[in-house]
Amino acid sequence: MVTHLQRLFAGSGFIARRDIAGIVLNRRGLALFSPPPGFYFGKAGKVSPLKVLCERFGRIAFGHSELSRTVQAWEAAAAEGTRALTQILEVI
Ligand SMILES: Cc1cc2nc3c(=O)[nH]c(=O)nc-3n(C[C@H](O)[C@H](O)[C@H](O)COP(=O)(O)OP(=O)(O)OC[C@H]3O[C@@H](n4cnc5c(N)ncnc54)[C@H](O)[C@@H]3O)c2cc1C
Repeated sequence: MVTHLQRLFAGSGFIARRDIAGIVLNRRGLALFSPPPGFYFGKAGKVSPLKVLCERFGRIAFGHSELSRTVQAWEAAAAEGTRALTQILEVI
């Protein structure tokens, strides 16, 4: 992988030995992150992190597929992106 990155980006001054401190692979196609307890429905009477993430914060809105509560897929990505963009359009 390092060799591949070096070949791809060398033309822009990239030097793998200098510019890479570490590589973490944490994505799996059509996976879903492991939500901690309370993530979906809240805990101890508190609002759930999912609900907080789906609310607009000023001019910022998150539209990631995993906010759909389903497996990662294009449909969820498009739906959540649409939701976030709609929220942003309320304020611009
Ligand atoms: C190997 C693989 C195969 C897949 N095959 C299919 C398939 O066949 N059919 C299908 O429907 N789905 C498939 N998926 C799932 C689909 O690709 C994802 O569900 C979809 O891309 C998710 O889109 P997203 O916009 O929610 O998130 P992402 O595509 O993950 O986009 C998130 C973006 O946020 C950026 N980002 C992260 N952190 C920050 C930060 N701090 N600041 C700024 N930007 C940040 C990332 O760089 C990324 O560009 C596959 C996924 C993988 C990994």
